[in-house]
Amino acid sequence: MTEQFELTAGGAVLMNGNRLRDEIVAELNAEITAAGGPAVCLATVLVGDDKPSRIYVRNKQRKAAEAAMESRHVELGADASQSEVEEAVGGLAADPGVHGILVQLPLPEGLDPDTVLELIPPEKDVDGLTPRSMGRLVRGQRGHVPCTPLGVMRLLDRYGVATSGSRAVVIGRSTLVGLPQVLLLGRKGVDATPTLAHSRTPELQEVCRQADIIVAAAGMARLVTADFVRPGAAVIDVGISRTTDGIVGDVDFEAVQEVAGAVTPMPGGTGPMTIACLLQNTLAAARMLGAFPD
Ligand code: NAD
Repeated sequence: MTEQFELTAGGAVLMNGNRLRDEIVAELNAEITAAGGPAVCLATVLVGDDKPSRIYVRNKQRKAAEAAMESRHVELGADASQSEVEEAVGGLAADPGVHGILVQLPLPEGLDPDTVLELIPPEKDVDGLTPRSMGRLVRGQRGHVPCTPLGVMRLLDRYGVATSGSRAVVIGRSTLVGLPQVLLLGRKGVDATPTLAHSRTPELQEVCRQADIIVAAAGMARLVTADFVRPGAAVIDVGISRTTDGIVGDVDFEAVQEVAGAVTPMPGGTGPMTIACLLQNTLAAARMLGAFPD
């Protein structure tokens, strides 16, 4: 029997990221427990006192514990120097007890994230953001894939959105989200035909209306209205904007759910999936490092 998915009031499938995250965390817990509970350790590095960053890091640690993983946390003040941050990350890179390293971005102004990220060996780069991991993704080699776009792929898969032969539009071309998202959608075996749209794309609405799948990662509150959406399309909201109305996504959920075939809620869509994929990458890291049985 095929699974009955939860629907929105307008009849679209609700691509529930909280639910899928919980399933993934439970699977990871079961896998680690079945292997006799070997230590699988995620290290987080937080520099400065950006409030959202602190919340993200705390959520990652909490979910790591639920997945039967250990976490290690290094915290540095907003006045930390470049060399202090590099020393901290270098120490975790060299520590055989640490399998995954996550440096919470953005770093405070004046610090260069690139030289910090380059200290993370590809096996421990569970965020998938270093040049070596990105290069592996482009070349189709084994390595860690950035968590947010990977989470989008997991949602499409879990909620039965067909990718093969589909037309996809990704709004946003950052190295964190949009660019790797396009690579993942176009991969062999996924076989969508992705278009990379950005702030200089003319007639964005028309471009999006051609799509079977829209991934909105622009950081523009409610950019994607019902007029952008072809009836039945899957719409995934990655954007986060802090407005006077609170936290708002790139998708006008209320209007879009009347037209779309499937849609993510915001919050509760891509955010929890980013954490789930970080933890999956951490277990994969432990495997790559020979600390967890294959
Ligand atoms: P970014 O600012 O680096 O990139 C935004 C991209 O959107 C740019 O390429 C820009 O060309 C494009 N863009 C901006 N305005 C546009 C417009 N009006 N029309 C078309 N394209 C436009 O941001 P990012 O790091 O890629 O993050 C994107 C959004 O996703 C942000 O809101 C961020 O907070 C959010 N985010 C969410 C998660 C999650 O887990 N859900 C993770 C990472 C980032």
